[in-house]
Amino acid sequence: MKTLDALQFDNRFARLGDAFSTEVLPEPLDEPRLVVASPAAMALLDLNPAEADSEVFAQLFAGHKLWSDAEPRAMVYSGHQFGVYNPRLGDGRGLLLGEVVNDAGEHWDLHLKGAGQTPYSRMGDGRAVLRSSIREFLASEYMHALGIPTSRALCVTGSSTPVWRERQESGAMLLRLAPSHVRFGHFEYFYYTNQHERLKELGEHVIACHFAECLTTENPWAAMFREIVERNAELIAKWQAYGFCHGVMNSDNMSILGITFDYGPYAFLDDFDANHICNHSDDSGRYSFSNQVPIAHWNLAALAQALTPFVEVEQLRESLGLFLPLFQAHYQDLMRRRLGLTTADERDAALVERLLQLMQTSAVDYNLFFRRLGERAPADAIKTLREDFVDLAGFDQWGLEYQARAAGETGDQAERRTRMHAVNPLYLLRNYLAQNAISAAEQGDYAPVRELHAVLSRPFEEQPGMQRYTERPPEWGKHLEISCSS
Ligand code: AMP
Ligand code: MG
Repeated sequence: MKTLDALQFDNRFARLGDAFSTEVLPEPLDEPRLVVASPAAMALLDLNPAEADSEVFAQLFAGHKLWSDAEPRAMVYSGHQFGVYNPRLGDGRGLLLGEVVNDAGEHWDLHLKGAGQTPYSRMGDGRAVLRSSIREFLASEYMHALGIPTSRALCVTGSSTPVWRERQESGAMLLRLAPSHVRFGHFEYFYYTNQHERLKELGEHVIACHFAECLTTENPWAAMFREIVERNAELIAKWQAYGFCHGVMNSDNMSILGITFDYGPYAFLDDFDANHICNHSDDSGRYSFSNQVPIAHWNLAALAQALTPFVEVEQLRESLGLFLPLFQAHYQDLMRRRLGLTTADERDAALVERLLQLMQTSAVDYNLFFRRLGERAPADAIKTLREDFVDLAGFDQWGLEYQARAAGETGDQAERRTRMHAVNPLYLLRNYLAQNAISAAEQGDYAPVRELHAVLSRPFEEQPGMQRYTERPPEWGKHLEISCSS
């Protein structure tokens, strides 16, 4: 295990040069302090977890210090925001500090979010507030713990620097890790500015660094796009199966790696609602929960357009055509597992659909339902869950069908429970839990956010003394308005 000063850098993206990013130094925050760090994310860099307690840790991740081999740069990109093309975006408040190579030879981007203004800040102040930094931190590490591909979060540093949003808040920085920070919007930028030579350099860089297996195919660009479609189909299936609502699926927030990226006003569903809109600035519901599927497809089509100089349109179309069937296959598989079914039956899709309709009309707590379903044998579990439903006849009918289906499974209830609990989390990242931890952190008490992070890092395992984290949200907690401002 390493100390901070032993990190090895190899800044491949920086070497692409000034057409792709601009050198910018972080603007330090006042009186930096560590709010929370993730030991699991530190392990990705082979860092000794004790390093988080050193003074230099908070200084590095609040912009006061830099490794001599770091090369902080703001990346340029563009993208479709709410369906409208914005020709120039870019890292307006985050910097790619460099790429760390770990002992396994993996490259990890170190991206410091909230590091001050850059040439891409437009009207923004370049800052991130403590509230949104904690939200991104908790979600990144929780999604990973659930097995959902995501960027990671090393730590959040807080400060006394005032930052103005709807009210005065304090500035913070989040250190984000990902194998790459290239977004769909990077490709769109070079395509729409007619810099096709640069677009070629970008694509070749991305393929060489992240899609090396495509190099042996006839057209590596076409193979890369197909792979991106496949990864997104699987990713969105996981979002839908676990009730994750991203909230701002602009093409500049879509990672080329098919990982969850750029957390904003996200939410995990409490009560099931297919039409849930977690971003209160999203008036038309473009990014509502159920729209995430067609929107991901739409974003992939936007990326495909930017790849047309290098891939035949027919080939792009063919790959795009894989998205929905692949999504369906992954989604049905995940839902079957959540229901404790190990075999496939053609009636399963209807069984799932009917359950979701019943949950929708009765506003049933989505994730908890599956955990409780696994707790007891099917007939008993159905009896207990029944009281949460308004349409009792409808649920009874569903229960009979489910029991008939579950009867065909092998293994006893103990096995079934173990199998189901391994895919159905007990601990959920609920908005109200995050909000309570944020309120305490804003008062300088970081114990709640650290404890919440620790509990959520093992979401499937029952943890003694942590019962209070399993409770359903209070009424106020279900209707928190999560602002887009961050
Ligand atoms: P987001 O909504 O966080 O995905 O950001 C969209 C674009 O706005 C990106 O180019 C960000 O870098 C930029 N941005 C967001 N907030 C700020 C800010 N406070 N200062 C400067 N740029 C920002
Ligand atoms: Mg963004």
